[in-house]
Amino acid sequence: MRDQESEYYSLFTNAFDYAPYGMALVGLDGRFLKANPSFCQIIGYTEAELVNRTYSDFMHSDDLHKNAEYIEQLLAGEIDSYRVEKRVLHKSDYTVWVLFSGSLMVNEQKEPQFLIIQLLDITDWKESEKRYHSLAERFDLVSKNSQDIISLNNLDGSCLYISPAIHSILGYHPEQLIGKCIYELWHSDDVASFTAALHYSDEYTSTCRVRHNNGQYVWFETTMKIILAEKGDTRQVLGISRDITDRNRTQELLKASEKLNIVGQLAAGIAHEIRNPLTSLKGFLQLIISRSEGRKEHLQIMKDEINRIELIVTELLVLAKPQNEISLQKNNLLTLLQHVITLLDTQAIMNNIQIIPHFESNTLTIDCDDNQMKQVFINIIKNAIEAMPEGGEINIHAEQEKDHAIIRIIDQGCGIPEEMISRLGEPFYTTKEGGTGLGLMISNKIVENHQGTIHIISKKNEGTIFRIQLPVAERGEGNDFP
Ligand code: ADP
Ligand code: MG
Repeated sequence: MRDQESEYYSLFTNAFDYAPYGMALVGLDGRFLKANPSFCQIIGYTEAELVNRTYSDFMHSDDLHKNAEYIEQLLAGEIDSYRVEKRVLHKSDYTVWVLFSGSLMVNEQKEPQFLIIQLLDITDWKESEKRYHSLAERFDLVSKNSQDIISLNNLDGSCLYISPAIHSILGYHPEQLIGKCIYELWHSDDVASFTAALHYSDEYTSTCRVRHNNGQYVWFETTMKIILAEKGDTRQVLGISRDITDRNRTQELLKASEKLNIVGQLAAGIAHEIRNPLTSLKGFLQLIISRSEGRKEHLQIMKDEINRIELIVTELLVLAKPQNEISLQKNNLLTLLQHVITLLDTQAIMNNIQIIPHFESNTLTIDCDDNQMKQVFINIIKNAIEAMPEGGEINIHAEQEKDHAIIRIIDQGCGIPEEMISRLGEPFYTTKEGGTGLGLMISNKIVENHQGTIHIISKKNEGTIFRIQLPVAERGEGNDFP
């Protein structure tokens, strides 16, 4: 019997000493009798330092009163044990959050003997809980006050949360949409690109149209991101949508004003160009009338000059056409470039500049809006002309590389310092007196709309290369160009 008792005793002391949570025995007077190493580690005192101190010495003053009530209930036999989160004071003067349990040991006569205290350090957990709360509060603050619409939905589109901005932007109350499929409000053409993209990637940003409560569509730039739900491992979609109606409108206006500017600047050159052939036409006509007989070579010159007037006037009309709707059509890029060159040749010659095309074939077909594409080349070649006040050559190369058309416009102008290259394309960034700083911004936008890129290589005082890359059209019907 004694052997068994001592075996139990040593088992108990082992469990006590090696328990991963703090354990202590406290006399009914509150004084420590025994504390295990985990307990000592949590509050920073050795067992010897603890003995003869009372455990309330280590308790945060705010918790003392509540603790006394529990002890009374324990002693009165109303409860067997209690468990609370509380703060204890570490020897180094900081507080430690613990999960504190207290229970009473009684003897066979049910008389209280001592208290068993157990501590589990939950500081880290408390910290992350605090962080979570402050994050949640911040999210709440941001989402309630944001001008963007923030939403959370399931993968099938059913709405879990949508921020109040939806009301001022689209005229719905958030409650009207919770549980409904948000894609039902989207323009059907835009839903597929998002759902398909989120199938392959965790994040996707694009523009989309969403129906206002009044039936009209509003343009948004929307980012959707797959996230893991707060609990469990289901995937949800966090969406942030910004109303870009105004941005689109500004871009249209900028495009229009740049177009006017270019037309205005071109007008001078074009007037000059038209006046020259007209002068010779008038002269020869005068001759024909006075001699009342037609000289063949005079008539031929008249015909050529009329053709030239026609060409230039046609170009001018093309440029002045409304451009708010882009329509992609198969165009021979080389013909298009040739037209632009014809249009700008006069201005070039007046500046002592020769524009030299180097085309490797007769056709290079791309899908494009010819007006807009012309605007890009006019912008870039005009910049090249303006960069060469001393005259020189502008070489234009066009060739096909795999499934891309590569156009290089190479000037011998002043060049662009490296630190400026990254700023090109910012609206109103110009180094010219009377410049608009819009040309490259619009060119970038147009090329981007055509799935292309513009790349700039430049050396100060040597010149600049604008390399434009555009996808070539897939071979198909309607592809036969002269
Ligand atoms: P703008 O021609 O009205 O100034 P752009 O957007 O067309 O506006 O061009 C912006 C700026 O980029 C120009 O002011 C010029 O400093 C620089 N730039 C563009 N193309 C060239 C070039 N080929 N050579 C040197 N600088 C250039
Ligand atoms: Mg320009």
